[in-house]
Amino acid sequence: MIIQLKSDITQVQKNKLIDQINSIGYKITEVQTQIGAYLIGIGKAEFDIRRFGHFEGIKDIHIVSDDYKLVSKKWKAKPTAIDLGDGVYIKDGDMAIMAGPCSIESEEQIKNVIDHLKASGIQIMRGGVFKPRSSPYAFRGLGLDGLKLWHQLAKEAGIKIVTEVMQVSQIEEMYDYVDIYQVGARNTQNFNLLDELGRVDKAVMIKRGISGTIEELLQSAEYVFSGGNEKLILCERGIRTYERASRNTLDLNAVPILKAKSHLPVVVDPSHGIGIREFVPQMALAGVMAGADGIIYEAHQVPEKAYSDGQQTLNFAQSALLAEQIRKTFALRKTFSLL
Ligand code: PEP
Ligand code: MN
Repeated sequence: MIIQLKSDITQVQKNKLIDQINSIGYKITEVQTQIGAYLIGIGKAEFDIRRFGHFEGIKDIHIVSDDYKLVSKKWKAKPTAIDLGDGVYIKDGDMAIMAGPCSIESEEQIKNVIDHLKASGIQIMRGGVFKPRSSPYAFRGLGLDGLKLWHQLAKEAGIKIVTEVMQVSQIEEMYDYVDIYQVGARNTQNFNLLDELGRVDKAVMIKRGISGTIEELLQSAEYVFSGGNEKLILCERGIRTYERASRNTLDLNAVPILKAKSHLPVVVDPSHGIGIREFVPQMALAGVMAGADGIIYEAHQVPEKAYSDGQQTLNFAQSALLAEQIRKTFALRKTFSLL
């Protein structure tokens, strides 16, 4: 159960309400975000809304039986829009394109990518400066200095930045240089990291865990929301299955299911999803048709020379073509009416 509180509720009114909820055996968690105040009640007894109608300070009461609550569509039918400033959004009814290298490598590379994005009308650049690598001997990223340089060049060009944060101590030092914190697939259930990202007033994109279920992804988002941050984006990036012909299995089922269960925007990452360059475009377009609000993919001037994930990275000509086709496919999707 979620009780949305009025912003002017007094402490006395709140205490009365909490006492009443406790009296029916419910455990209460108070949530204060940058946008609203909520009481989350967890309990077994049937919750009779009529017993709470006369309490003061309540905006609305919603019965949400799922384990995740604040990210559920059951209480908030209006989709959450992520406003990155300067007219850049990630939201339902829109198609965000985020492209860039797997890893940020050098000043020259950043400039090349930015020129390509500008020429292709892409407003958000992806790239890793802290890289989670399966091997400790692989390139681990340029770190904070790389991010500062990237931010300076991106800002001059009016490009937004999405990049991975790997640990709690990086959140603060990255703050001034990112537009979206990315939580990688290996960190989806790093609950300390999620808790801390709840305290930040900046967008967070959570990737689905490598072996994570849809429910677990929503629960991870719930951590950030209940920590105070409502600016959340969900990302389907493929899961580990028995299939070995592709790097991962891009679970496009997750897109309409997440959109139906949650008010948060959903982004698809076809690069990690299939892991094979020549098939990234079709999976990107399939993601658009599945209902995604955005596509994030890897692009590099010379993918063969990329420090990481070159095998799934598009060159600039391929990326320019894909961006155009994503927009066309999205326009086509809008003409369809399903069910
Ligand atoms: C990435 O975006 O480069 C990345 C490491 O993604 P994931 O966490 O999905 O593997
Ligand atoms: Mn990558």
